[in-house]
Amino acid sequence: NGKTFRKSAHISNNCENYRNSCELELCRLIYICLEKITGISPEWGLLTGIRPVKRVSALMDKGMTESEISQFLYEKYNVSRKKSMLAFKTAVVQRPIIKNIRKNYVSLYISVPFCPTRCSYCSFVSHSMTSASKLIPDYIRLLCRELEILGDIVKNLDLKIDTVYFGGGTPTSLNPAQLEILMKKTYECFNLSEIREYNIEAGRPDTITQQKLDTIKKFGATRISINPQTFNDDVLKIIGRHHNSKQTVNAFRLARKCGFENINMDIIAGLPSDTNESFHKTIDKAVCLDPDSITVHTLTVKRSASLYQDGINTDNVSVSEMTDYAYNTLLKNNYYPYYLYRQKNTVENLENIGYARKNKESLYNIYIMDEIQTILGAGCAASTKLVSPDGKIKRVHNYKFPYEYIKNFDELMKKKSEIMDFYKQFF
Ligand code: SF4
Repeated sequence: NGKTFRKSAHISNNCENYRNSCELELCRLIYICLEKITGISPEWGLLTGIRPVKRVSALMDKGMTESEISQFLYEKYNVSRKKSMLAFKTAVVQRPIIKNIRKNYVSLYISVPFCPTRCSYCSFVSHSMTSASKLIPDYIRLLCRELEILGDIVKNLDLKIDTVYFGGGTPTSLNPAQLEILMKKTYECFNLSEIREYNIEAGRPDTITQQKLDTIKKFGATRISINPQTFNDDVLKIIGRHHNSKQTVNAFRLARKCGFENINMDIIAGLPSDTNESFHKTIDKAVCLDPDSITVHTLTVKRSASLYQDGINTDNVSVSEMTDYAYNTLLKNNYYPYYLYRQKNTVENLENIGYARKNKESLYNIYIMDEIQTILGAGCAASTKLVSPDGKIKRVHNYKFPYEYIKNFDELMKKKSEIMDFYKQFF
């Protein structure tokens, strides 16, 4: 539009980390000019990285107060006071949990990459049950074998299991017999007597039945996720989830009746065709059901999502107003932010926040975000993240797609020796 802005800064070449300081200052100058030209001020300023809470926590370790941290983040990265306060509040909830981490314990992630249909915004490897039905028996057989191998490694290294997470995908997409095989195998291969949390993603309410809930309970799962994403049925149709909001309510009530005392609900702000008013109703309805935690994601559309081709149009809505509404309503109802992460390509450059009632925070979510505990991954697209006592991290990746996992299984299992090597080197 022909506007010109000039901005300059001086950096002393005696300063510590001169090159980095120059780079950051240059980014800041460009950011300020763009802010003036476009009139847009992203709330996270020019702070990048998916774990802002980790940064805030490091500043707290240095003895900085909330207002000092806020000032620092504003001066250095143009982060708004609102977002630095959010990160601070989240860190306050997380820190005692992190402090309580048990040495010699690891978590276990088991990937079941199947769902009834594929949501239009999905960027996971998840396959629809119809397209993957032929692969499932082989996948389960090999996943059981991988669990045996990991179980032996855990025994050999004298490790203990802290938390278990069945994700994917939607593990409850499996039929009751298949679900039972996997949960039974997990029970047989690992000593779960000291676990503090056992999660199952049961995100799609149309996959939840009494029989599956009984199986989940029988094998000791303590936390499940039943995810409305929205309580607006028109939006549910548009995003390709073949269920309605009534099914979510029924599944939630059934789970409560079966005795689940830790249920999470995921909600997404910024879904196609959703409005601010309808999003408010979704939050209000979720609160009304009284789950133990509510995770509010902001829509992120990556290349692998079908929605990527169509593009997202959020011209008539304010997604930051939605997330503000969620924040204020949830705090008023005693849900506190306990984990937070950011991703690329998120609408309005916002974030994802897990809110929970006191003592209902998911330990696994904190561990994975803060990278403070080894997580052993089983199944396709799962990665094992090994964490040494001084914070060194090594990742061992499994193949991404089920057919690759099945085809290359033997070769893949050879890589498991890297886990032993890592523990021998660092412990
Ligand atoms: S439920 Fe989750 S994993 Fe499954 S298709 Fe939808 S976004 Fe992907």
